[in-house]
Amino acid sequence: MPFDLDRYRERAETFGEELSREYYRHLAGHKRELEIEPIYETYGDLFDRDSVLALRDLAAGAVNADEGRRLRYLLHFGFDGLVGLETRAEAAELAGLEASLEVDAGDGAVPYRAVVIEQANESDAGRRAALEEARNGVLESRLNPIYRTALERAHETCREFGWPSYADAYTELRGIDLARLRRQTAEFLTATDGAYTPLMDAQLERAGLPALGALRRSDMPRLFRAPGLDRHFPAERLIESFEATLAGLGMKLREQPNVHLDTESRPTKSPRAFCSTPRVPEEVYLVIAPHGGRDDYAALFHEGGHTEHYANTEAGLAYEYRQLGDNSVTESFAFLVEHLVSDPDWLRERLGVGDPEPAVEHSRAFRLVMLRRYSAKLAYELDLHGVSADFAAMPDLYSELLSDAVRVPWPRASWLADVDDGFYAACYLRAWALETHWRAALEERFGESWFANGEAGEWLRGLWREGQRLNADELLGEALGEELDFTRLAAEYRQ
Ligand SMILES: [Zn+2]
Repeated sequence: MPFDLDRYRERAETFGEELSREYYRHLAGHKRELEIEPIYETYGDLFDRDSVLALRDLAAGAVNADEGRRLRYLLHFGFDGLVGLETRAEAAELAGLEASLEVDAGDGAVPYRAVVIEQANESDAGRRAALEEARNGVLESRLNPIYRTALERAHETCREFGWPSYADAYTELRGIDLARLRRQTAEFLTATDGAYTPLMDAQLERAGLPALGALRRSDMPRLFRAPGLDRHFPAERLIESFEATLAGLGMKLREQPNVHLDTESRPTKSPRAFCSTPRVPEEVYLVIAPHGGRDDYAALFHEGGHTEHYANTEAGLAYEYRQLGDNSVTESFAFLVEHLVSDPDWLRERLGVGDPEPAVEHSRAFRLVMLRRYSAKLAYELDLHGVSADFAAMPDLYSELLSDAVRVPWPRASWLADVDDGFYAACYLRAWALETHWRAALEERFGESWFANGEAGEWLRGLWREGQRLNADELLGEALGEELDFTRLAAEYRQ
């Protein structure tokens, strides 16, 4: 049967709709089971080799630029799905083990997934380290062999499609020059080398933790838990402060008919805020189980940024531009809204925080750790997924790159578990940089308190209407005539 592109597009969209709604219903606690197998069965043809090969041929032969772009987004979708199906047995096994395995540091069992929370709440550094060691042991013996099988199959699938490596495949599928991004983030690491240690040591001292040099990775969850900041971020003001922020930008959250705000408490609801988009822009869910604290505010505002980006996307755009494309774009708007909860003016005006400095500095340090960690991760992932990757050398390389960037001895054990599918790390890195361009433009046009200016909201909605038709570089070029770079981001850490 000849490949029917229109039918493929329609089925891709309904597949995404059903999958996204199922995830919403499960994670929001409406139903206990997550039944995605029947959905994959119904739509399996979207991810068979013939369909994906047909998309690749069409994309390669497209003469019209717009059609070529839509086909590349579709090809990325199809190929991701194909790799996902090829490795679904391993993914299911890993999920099952991670949910059921237990870790024992010699004083009783802790669920595998609860180790980080346990470390954050543990005041004894020795027990934090023992938990880490026990967890790494389980990771190496039980999970890494499965991760490795899945990784090798994903690499094989890329070669089968004619790409020299997984890195080459995703450079083409994402349309991102990953080698250039690696150079930019290496420069960012150098540019923030001097600022990093003093910024971190000040935070570590406040938290009563050892300075860099003596700090262990098992101490980091404790640093970022920051219970001293909880009083600024009460659970009962979480939703109200988000609504007030949107109102300041001229948007009434409760009057957006396409945004479903889900704040009800349910026994199996995910503790972390999330956004789900069965239909863009017609059906967008923002789900929250408010429990307060800095991290909860950051998560809600981040997901709220995604929500408003999707909810304001132009309904008339092609499916590929509403639901697919370069996620650096939606992540940049999520980071922009998230950044407000560490903005001193916002903290004063919206939460009445008298002295916002501790919260601001804590967030700055947290973000720099993330930026440096992701910069190192990208360099590592490019080697891991490169043409001549030597797996035997990878655990040491991983540990070395992460230790150098974060300045904490980094365990080798997570050399496979700490790898994002399809170079998603690149989207986060680009989004962090892109966010600084948006924020500078907003401040320049509407002042420091741009978040309380209806015209700033109007300007943002103009960007959001585009969905993800353009990639991060193109949208930035079109909106501001600027080129995506990391110098502004590095400048935020200039001493
Ligand atoms: Zn996000």
